[in-house]
This record gives sequence, structure tokens and C-alpha cells, in this order.
Amino acid sequence: MGSSLHSGGRSYGRTSRRAVLLGGAVVLGTGISTAAVRYAGPARAAAEPPVSGCDRWGARPPSRPVTVHSARPHKVIVHHTDSPNVQDGSQAHAFALARSIQDSHLGRGWIDSGQHFTISRGGHVMEGRHRSLETLLGGAATVESAHTTAQNTVAIGIENEGTYDTAQPPSALYASLVDLCATLCTRYGLRAYQIYGHRDFNDTDCPGDLLYARLPRLRADVAARIGGSAVAPVWPTLTVGATGERVRSLQYLLRQHGSGLLVNGSYGSVTDNAVRAFQDAVKAGVDGVAGQQTWNQLVAPLATGGSGEAVRAVQSQLAARGAGLRVDGAFGPATRSAVASFQAGASLPADGVVDARTWGALVT
Ligand SMILES: [Zn+2]
Repeated sequence: MGSSLHSGGRSYGRTSRRAVLLGGAVVLGTGISTAAVRYAGPARAAAEPPVSGCDRWGARPPSRPVTVHSARPHKVIVHHTDSPNVQDGSQAHAFALARSIQDSHLGRGWIDSGQHFTISRGGHVMEGRHRSLETLLGGAATVESAHTTAQNTVAIGIENEGTYDTAQPPSALYASLVDLCATLCTRYGLRAYQIYGHRDFNDTDCPGDLLYARLPRLRADVAARIGGSAVAPVWPTLTVGATGERVRSLQYLLRQHGSGLLVNGSYGSVTDNAVRAFQDAVKAGVDGVAGQQTWNQLVAPLATGGSGEAVRAVQSQLAARGAGLRVDGAFGPATRSAVASFQAGASLPADGVVDARTWGALVT
């Protein structure tokens, strides 16, 4: 997880109705769930890893019921625990690890383990926060978590045991990480490029230089399993003096997140200050430069029915490309059609949904 950059999660909700399921190691994809597998590509049930639920590893109850949001997550974020690279690959060690992380997080005043899932160096996969496994099996909801500031309602967090600044992750851990990510993507309808590292969002070294450097291969290995693209979005680096439509997009997105700055396409001191305030709020590195962390924190998927300043950013980009679109902040059929045309021209799936890759293509 790295440092103390994790926001706590509020939690309310009901008790698990899958207590029986959570009582043992659950082999995903064995007919337990009828969850729709929306993503095109075969569900490879045989490769879904056994996941030990909270009851199995001896979790304490959460201090308050966890919150479950009735929407799918739109990304997966990889962490390391920043703990010693132990040699013990046993299940007993893995379960003790899960208990010690939970104790630590409860000790911070959090309601439960911060992350959704934990993988030991021996490759054992465990549920972290209560109800994470149940909601994964359902494929339609997200447990609010505490692993990445400003992403805890929309991102699944995986803690990988160890410290990977100068050491490579063990093969058993990596194999389980691929299996778990493929399962998450299949059941939640995510694509492999939606797998990120913690440092893509917050000012942290997590998940270590070497595990972070492994992420392109992780995306490729997951894409080989489930199909689709493994290429992550690329973002422009904007700073004082920049002008044009990309700056307008940045300004619209800052307004979407509560800034009162005007959209004028000119990156001056007002924009610099607004970027710094946003970076501080989301615990990105505060430097006034709109780069990867800032864009990753600013954008969220947009689709028909959406509204607001972020929709204006998309419409203004498309209008600047000649789409003949009104910049009214309402994502209707005309906007959807213009997005799909843009996607087709950019060799992206023309589904009319502005996902992270489409955002990247629009502003780069
Ligand atoms: Zn982390």
C-alpha cells in the first residue's frame, strides 16, 4: 500500500447473505454465481483462483458495516504491502498476514482492511475488506474501500505481500495476480488496460519500481486470457504557458471537480493554482503540472445520460474536430454518435462510451 496515503472508508450496509460461501476457499467460476460475464471473450473458469474469504482466514468483524455501491468498478489498482520479502509461502503465513493487515488498518481507525484482496508471496489469494468476494461474484457492485485516495469507490485494490523497489515479485505471487486480475476483468466487464499501479494516482512509490515496471506485462498477460487491448492511456504533460483545446479540457475537468476557474484555453497562474489545489485534494504530487496522476484522477467514464463540465470537455474536443456539436454539457444521442465516430477514427472500440483510453486519445 505504501505510506499512509489511504483515505478511510465510510461504511454502512447489511450483513453478508453469503456467509456460507465465505466460510471456505471459494473457487470462482464453478457455478456458484450466475453473474453475467459481459466482456467479450471466454470466461476461463479453470484459471480463476481460489479466494479465501474473511471467515476462512479469521478476520475480525468490521467495526461498522461496509458500504456497497451499486455500480461496477472501472479499474483495478495494484499495491505492494511494503513489508519484508519473507520466504514462507504457506497458507498459515498468508492467513496471518491478512490478519495483521486488518489489525493494522483497524488500528488506524478504518472500519476494516483497506484493500479488497490480498495476495501472499506464496500466491495465496484472500479477501480483504468484507463483502469484496460476494460483490465480485455478483459482478455488479463495488465495496467502498481505503487503498487509493480519491479512487476508493470506483477501483478494486489488490495488496501484494512484499517490497518491490529492488526485488522482483515471486512467480507464485505473479501467477495469482494474473489470475485474480483476469477474474476481476471478466466478472466486472473491465479490459486489461484498466489495471493500474497506486503511483498512477497518488504521490507514492507503491507498488515499488519493479512491480510497477511489471504492469505492462501484467496487462498483456491478462489480455491474452480475456481478449481486448492491453495498451494503457497516454496523457499529455501540460504546464504554465500551454494553450489550446487540451487546456480547455483540463479546465472543464477541474470545474467538474469543483474548481471555479474559467475555461479560456490558456494555462496561466489561475490554472496552475487550480491544478495544485486539485492535486493536493486527491493526494497526487503537488507540482502544478498536469501529468499522468492528475489526468488519471480527473477523468471518469462518460456515457449517454451523463451531464456536466466533463461532458462539455468531450463536446468541445469533438466540436474542435468538426463534429458540429453543441457544447451544452448533456450527453445525448448526438454526442454519443460523435464519440463513436471519433473512436472509429482512432482505432478504438466504437461503443460511444468515453472510457480512459478515449479520454487519452481526445486530449493527446
Ligand atoms: Zn499502495
